[in-house]
Amino acid sequence: MARLAQTHGLTDVQQEILATVRDFVDKEIIPVATELEHRDEYPQQIVDGLKELGVFGLMIPEEYGGLGESLLTYALCVEEIARGWMSVSGIINTHFIVAYMLKQHGTQEQKEYFLPRMAAGETRGAFSMSEPGLGSDVSAITSKAVKDGEEYVLNGQKMWLTNGGTSTLVAVLVRSDEGHPEGTAPHKSMTTFLVEKEAGFGEVRPGLTIPGKIDKMGYKGVDTTELIMDGLRIPANRVLGGVTGRGFYQMMDGVEVGRVNVAARGCGVAQRAFELGVSYAQQRHTFGKAIAQHQAIQFKLAEMATKVEAAHAMMVNAARKKDSGERNDLEAGMAKYLASEYCKEVVEDAFRIHGGYGFSKEYEIERLYREAPMLLIGEGTAEIQKMIIGRRLLEEYRFQG
Ligand SMILES: Cc1cc2nc3c(=O)[nH]c(=O)nc-3n(C[C@H](O)[C@H](O)[C@H](O)COP(=O)(O)OP(=O)(O)OC[C@H]3O[C@@H](n4cnc5c(N)ncnc54)[C@H](O)[C@@H]3O)c2cc1C
Repeated sequence: MARLAQTHGLTDVQQEILATVRDFVDKEIIPVATELEHRDEYPQQIVDGLKELGVFGLMIPEEYGGLGESLLTYALCVEEIARGWMSVSGIINTHFIVAYMLKQHGTQEQKEYFLPRMAAGETRGAFSMSEPGLGSDVSAITSKAVKDGEEYVLNGQKMWLTNGGTSTLVAVLVRSDEGHPEGTAPHKSMTTFLVEKEAGFGEVRPGLTIPGKIDKMGYKGVDTTELIMDGLRIPANRVLGGVTGRGFYQMMDGVEVGRVNVAARGCGVAQRAFELGVSYAQQRHTFGKAIAQHQAIQFKLAEMATKVEAAHAMMVNAARKKDSGERNDLEAGMAKYLASEYCKEVVEDAFRIHGGYGFSKEYEIERLYREAPMLLIGEGTAEIQKMIIGRRLLEEYRFQG
């Protein structure tokens, strides 16, 4: 992007990483993305390339074999990757959230065991909160863990696992009333389990089944699955952080950085839609001139570019806030909300600029049009973001009368 979505104050190392990722996106992702997406094919070659670039370990500390980079660097890389193909950023996102949760909340043994493997991309992460009966209302989780000697026995059904099939480590949130008296608040009786499994579908570990891929309107290539636990036995040392009852907070911490990530994906997809729209508008002629010369189309381009800039600025602000060690739930919620809504609007405008051709599978905008809605839902819908934003505002601006 020549002019839009610039980020000031980056270090030489950050600039170098971004330039490398951008080059990879232009050469290895954009030329093949639409074809792979139409075939719903897992982008193995792209994933291998990103592994080699160290993207899977971008934020994992150097002592565990990662690059030890900031959330900002990570988010800017995700923005670039989503500009190429949103599904690829989805492959990295759940891995990143699980690595982040391990880094923040794992025991020393868990960090030493998992993080080097995750940095190398050998172990690949997925995270699982949603169930068939709930997504927004995490406190209503019904999957359950019961202690049995030195193990826990897990039962229940999970829904919508991004990378459910390809991952080999799933952070699963379940109810665990053990040690917590009856009537304990729901969010205080939940535990995150680190569940290792084989990649693939079917019974991937005794008591654990990944039935198959969910067929989706977009966000193809990346696998999204259910997960069924039926007497799944997990050793006590695979409770994240070693103590039960902390799972809700651990997951919410993970989702908070995940929201910056989804905002970054919205920025990347919107940028690509703008690029496609501004290019097409200068090639297509109607009534004797390029449609870009009609004021109505120029206004659309102006609105699109303004939204790209605004979303990028808010996403960068949210990432920097977290990197500075401050609470960023307000900024992350705002960035996720705004970037995903603007993404959908910019994509729709680019689609309209393409006229009838936007409806043809030959044009990239058709893919973006099916991808953008996922960002309105993942890591919390717009309504959930507004609930978080509203609550935080009332804390900050408490009436002093
Ligand atoms: C492609 C895809 C990948 C996903 N990947 C994952 C994953 O990897 N891991 C995971 O755990 N989950 C994942 N999810 C699940 C996702 O997080 C949920 O779909 C999302 O949180 C919404 O939950 P829901 O679908 O149950 O909708 P619901 O919670 O049933 O909401 C339905 C509607 O009601 C609104 N609503 C709900 N509560 C309120 C309220 N209090 N006030 C006002 N409006 C409200 C919502 O905004 C929405 O519009 C994925 C989903 C998709 C589609």
